[in-house]
Amino acid sequence: MDIDFNKNNDGLVPAIIQDATTKNVLMLGYMNQEAYQKTLDTKKVTFYSRTKKRLWTKGEESGNFLNLVDVKNDCDQDTLLIRVNPVGPTCHKGSDTCWNEDNKQEFGFLSELEAVIAQRRKAADGSKSYVASLFDKGINKIAQKVGEEAVEVVIEAKDDNDDLFLNESADLLFHYLILLQAKGYALNDIVEVLKGRH
Ligand code: AMP
Ligand code: ZN
Ligand code: ZN
Ligand code: ZN
Repeated sequence: MDIDFNKNNDGLVPAIIQDATTKNVLMLGYMNQEAYQKTLDTKKVTFYSRTKKRLWTKGEESGNFLNLVDVKNDCDQDTLLIRVNPVGPTCHKGSDTCWNEDNKQEFGFLSELEAVIAQRRKAADGSKSYVASLFDKGINKIAQKVGEEAVEVVIEAKDDNDDLFLNESADLLFHYLILLQAKGYALNDIVEVLKGRH
């Protein structure tokens, strides 16, 4: 790979470390030619530490290695995107990422929706939201709602009104997310089952 190690006149390129599965950014480090080569040879991410002034294999003391998946060069060859499978937390302060985040799988807007549902569920009584009132009615009622929405999806699938089909699909997905939470699960638990079958 043709990497421009001298853009900054210091023989170093920034290396963005990304979890290959969750796609979260875990940390940023710097590599010189030697660190890059060692990373490829050992399949464990090795940086040039600007503080230690030597090669530094992430995890060399903690055991929290970054196992190499692949490396991509950017558009002008001066920044690496390194995909890894991390062993344990990446930050030496103990969090999953160096920005103090959990390295959990995100599903874009669906994850936001999961968070909103969780929030509504534990919101104080009084101005009860629709979601909170569903949780109050219990699993059987929520499951029944999922069943009803599923039937509506089936009905609209047979019609040619796409707008109704999409809206009933959204209703189904929304109520299904509520059912998952009522059962104590999250979307990712289902994704893991699907991956297991794959
Ligand atoms: P490790 O490479 O995980 O064995 O950690 C060895 C030392 O490297 C730590 O004590 C820190 O000084 C430093 N270190 C480890 N992880 C990070 C990180 N994500 N960012 C910056 N420094 C780190
Ligand atoms: Zn660039
Ligand atoms: Zn850190
Ligand atoms: Zn509906």
